[in-house]
Amino acid sequence: MIELIDHKTINFSIETRGNILINTEPQVTTIFTCDTCHKQITDPSKGYFQWIRKEHELFQFSIVHINPACHIARNSGEKPLDIMLGRTGIQDLDNMLDPTLMEPFTIGDMQSFMEVRRRLTWPLYEEARL
Ligand SMILES: [Zn+2]
Repeated sequence: MIELIDHKTINFSIETRGNILINTEPQVTTIFTCDTCHKQITDPSKGYFQWIRKEHELFQFSIVHINPACHIARNSGEKPLDIMLGRTGIQDLDNMLDPTLMEPFTIGDMQSFMEVRRRLTWPLYEEARL
């Protein structure tokens, strides 16, 4: 079961606990811009999180349409975008950062990895990039 929040509904529920403001209802982005064709991916089930593997290093982390014409050249790995937006998406991303879990693979392009990680997990980050 994948839980997604409607992109059009932007609700922030802020609670105060002590001196700390806690956002109890984070906004999850569900509309992304394809890194290949630069058109919108309006349905997460129509997108992929992809990367390229060169020997033991992973590069060019990208969000693209499920359409093969949009796949990054020499795609070496992918996960469905809707899975990445589900409950285990942040775990999948963080596991890729853990060298003990990824061995023998390592992230060779931390800049694109962190950008995709922000796009998938930071509230309204993708919207701010448009
Ligand atoms: Zn595309």
